[in-house]
Amino acid sequence: MHRRIETGTSSVGHIAVVGAGFIGQSWAIVFARSGYDVALYDADPSQCAKAGVFLDQALSQLEEAGLLNGLTPQAVRERIVPADALSHALDGAFYVQENAPEKLDLKRQIFAELDELAEPGVILASSTSALLPTSFTEGLKGAARCIVAHPINPPHLVPAVEVVPGRSTSQETIERTAALMDAVGQSTVIMRREIDGFIINRLQGALLHEAFHLFAEGYADTESIDICVRDGLGLRWSFMGPFETIDLNAPGGISDYIERYGPFYRQLWQENDHLPDWKACGARLESERGQILARSDMQARQVWRDSELMKIASARRRPEQDC
Ligand code: NAD
Repeated sequence: MHRRIETGTSSVGHIAVVGAGFIGQSWAIVFARSGYDVALYDADPSQCAKAGVFLDQALSQLEEAGLLNGLTPQAVRERIVPADALSHALDGAFYVQENAPEKLDLKRQIFAELDELAEPGVILASSTSALLPTSFTEGLKGAARCIVAHPINPPHLVPAVEVVPGRSTSQETIERTAALMDAVGQSTVIMRREIDGFIINRLQGALLHEAFHLFAEGYADTESIDICVRDGLGLRWSFMGPFETIDLNAPGGISDYIERYGPFYRQLWQENDHLPDWKACGARLESERGQILARSDMQARQVWRDSELMKIASARRRPEQDC
């Protein structure tokens, strides 16, 4: 249940955000706009200054879009403070969100350090996209308090988060992590056990494989395939998932859908048993995309993407979030 924060003055707890790149700076907004004090630490100190520039710009836009829980940009900004050492960031924290680069050795090293430095009972969560939690936490004294909380970029605009336990993660860690994610307004998914790609990247990967296949075999160009998602499937997917979609797409509901269309889909995948070679069509893809979007305009288009996401997040705001 999302909690409404009435004022910008009283803190509801202290969180350490470790790694202040794309994902770390966005998590800082998620926590601070829900009333948490955030200590932002990065191994490269200049990164916290860069994050500060991003925050100043993003927070004013978020206020305009009504996405700061009624707080002012200043009130949220004041809650986010850079830390000059990992131990300082952890001081008083009950929860750590780690966002360092996606390298197994580095995650192992950081989690060993976090486990050494953090007080007992502090949850150590990683934003990793593709590393199984067991792979970098097994064997640690505090493996029971380690977990993955995998967001979609940027988490302050896209609420889904996958909470993924490793082999040794305790039930208490799962429940406390999920409760925090709910409290800060994310849409929490708790996985029963870990699998490569978790859920989101497995679903995205299935769609990407088919998009590559259709392109590589010359059935359609990139823009046509993008239109099918952007102006077709994606319109429904922005407010309901694949199971709800098929439940509503046959007069007798999901069983009727399985009866009517199951054999057709089964036959499709029996014919499509090979994986497309992404690299083999990379140059052709790059050339088509380059004609649609000049590579020099990529950054401007990323800003545009986030402003479109902001409009959608604002339109989808739940009624209880209104002041
Ligand atoms: P990024 O490169 O933008 O940021 C990583 C930051 O970590 C950098 O600022 C770097 O200086 C810092 N860093 C490096 N070593 C460190 C250390 N030892 N201690 C503290 N900070 C350190 O990367 P990102 O896109 O923010 O990704 C961070 C994590 O989030 C990765 O695990 C990634 O898989 C995951 N993630 C990324 C996305 C995405 O789309 N970018 C989405 C979901 C999850």
